[in-house]
Amino acid sequence: MKFLLFVVAVVALLWLLRGSRRGANPPPAVKPAPPPDELQAMVSCAHCGIHLPQNEALPGRGGVFCGEPHRSAFEKAHPLQ
Ligand SMILES: [Zn+2]
Repeated sequence: MKFLLFVVAVVALLWLLRGSRRGANPPPAVKPAPPPDELQAMVSCAHCGIHLPQNEALPGRGGVFCGEPHRSAFEKAHPLQ
């Protein structure tokens, strides 16, 4: 009977040690979510056709543009009637 108590005590001690070690060294965090940029809708510049995230696109007459130079170039090429 004493032997059984000893075995139970050792198992309990090992279990406690393993539990505290796990608490001190938490497992590595789960992979971080991809940056929001990758999830953004992509649009293409109406002038040069380059793809860019929607929040970086410059809205203009005739579509969205990658920048002010292309917006003005497109608007010069397609003047209002
Ligand atoms: Zn462009």
